[in-house]
Amino acid sequence: MKILNFSVKDILPALLDGTKTQTIRKAWKDYGVSSTGSRIMTYTEPKYEVGEKVQIMWKQRSPYKYFCKLCGGPIIADTGNSLNHCDCSSFNPLDINSNRFSKKLRIITIADVFKAVIGVKSVKAERTIDPMTFSKRDGFQNFEQLLKTLDDMYNTAVPKSFWVYRW
Ligand SMILES: [Zn+2]
Repeated sequence: MKILNFSVKDILPALLDGTKTQTIRKAWKDYGVSSTGSRIMTYTEPKYEVGEKVQIMWKQRSPYKYFCKLCGGPIIADTGNSLNHCDCSSFNPLDINSNRFSKKLRIITIADVFKAVIGVKSVKAERTIDPMTFSKRDGFQNFEQLLKTLDDMYNTAVPKSFWVYRW
């Protein structure tokens, strides 16, 4: 089964409570810059298709198995101590069972796949998009937070193409 991996802390609460039912992934692959200074890239096909079952994971490549619901950081096992801990200030080791989650979150079924071109101020998509609904569905508080996160990750000053997956 394919994996859909997440690591952005802002969307963690919505991922945990199940209200996140959408993700936006880049629709290109970069190969660096050519000797003449132009960017070498190709557009990519969707990685998941409608009807496909996908395993949702948090920080897949991390060596840790459990993470903190409060900060998204790893739960670290203390040597010689049965209590595990997270370094964030809000974590209470006595509440470990309610404060931790397994990185292997759940299995979802892809319900829709479409392309969107996203810049720093707008989204042009193959579906009718209400900015607030689109952002909430992705786990963000509002449209500005979604746009800023994508700009920080991918530099969308020049709008870029993304695949939007829904479940
Ligand atoms: Zn924590």
